[in-house]
Amino acid sequence: MSALLKVEHLKKYFNVPMGINHAVDDISFEIQKGETMGVVGESGCGKSTLGRTIIRLQDPTAGKIYLNGEDITEAKGKDLRRVRENMQIIFQDPYSSLNPRMTVEEAVQEPLYLSKRFKKKEILEETERLMDLCGVEERLRMAYPHELDGGRRQRVGIARALALSPEFIMCDEPVSALDVSIQAQVLNLLMDLQDQLKLTYIFVTHDLSVVRHISNHICVMYLGQLVEVSPSQELFKNPMHPYTKALLSAVPSVDLDHPMKRIVLKGEITSPINPKPGCRFASRCPYATEACEQPQELKQVDNDHFVSCCRLKEIG
Ligand code: SF4
Repeated sequence: MSALLKVEHLKKYFNVPMGINHAVDDISFEIQKGETMGVVGESGCGKSTLGRTIIRLQDPTAGKIYLNGEDITEAKGKDLRRVRENMQIIFQDPYSSLNPRMTVEEAVQEPLYLSKRFKKKEILEETERLMDLCGVEERLRMAYPHELDGGRRQRVGIARALALSPEFIMCDEPVSALDVSIQAQVLNLLMDLQDQLKLTYIFVTHDLSVVRHISNHICVMYLGQLVEVSPSQELFKNPMHPYTKALLSAVPSVDLDHPMKRIVLKGEITSPINPKPGCRFASRCPYATEACEQPQELKQVDNDHFVSCCRLKEIG
């Protein structure tokens, strides 16, 4: 297998009145073709900024992004348009991402028209195929977004994202705004589409239980940095970073014989503005010592399992 997407030392900083917000700070990972990388963390940890920087909706401050081995970090003009056709995004709130004045048909057709690659007849055929592929009923062709429920709106958003046959899709909390029963349907659709079309996903969410079954690997993010990266099943079996353990303890367990004790984090969340060089989780970590004031880096602790914490041996 080869990496479809690779990011190296990616940074995205924002100038704010109080200083510099280190929203994404020195992140590196790669995703193999056809796989899903889950990115989890609390709101405000920078996971959506990471996603949007990777697909070049905003320019990175530093670092490199490679798609199929091509350096796309500074792609501009025609090159950027070509790259963007191959990297699409599904948003959390399809209601605000769909134009309220466009019918379902027009929303799905728009990217096809804009690409200028298709004739009118092909666009009509493609619209029908995409709607069918994503389970959008034919009778909704002329409906407007406000006439659809959340699940159907998200299906239209997915059909639109697939219009130009991308290889990579950034799923930015795509089910967070949906009812639980609808969440499962949309997740199943995304997994079926991945199988059929060999898609590669990054799946950004604050909900670990959502990514458990669909991700091959999971990155746990805390205040702009990765604190743990692991194959999905391994992360659930053997979480190592204190923050990952706390996140996992909040996931409802179906294992009544071995329920996980809920870890409630105390302490203030460190600001991502002008952060100190040490571990950003220290103010909430029960194991923090002076050693944690040194910069931490992801280190391999097992096959394919990386953790950023200098006190793993002591924590056990
Ligand atoms: Fe906690 Fe220190 Fe490890 Fe950070 S480096 S997670 S503060 S023990």
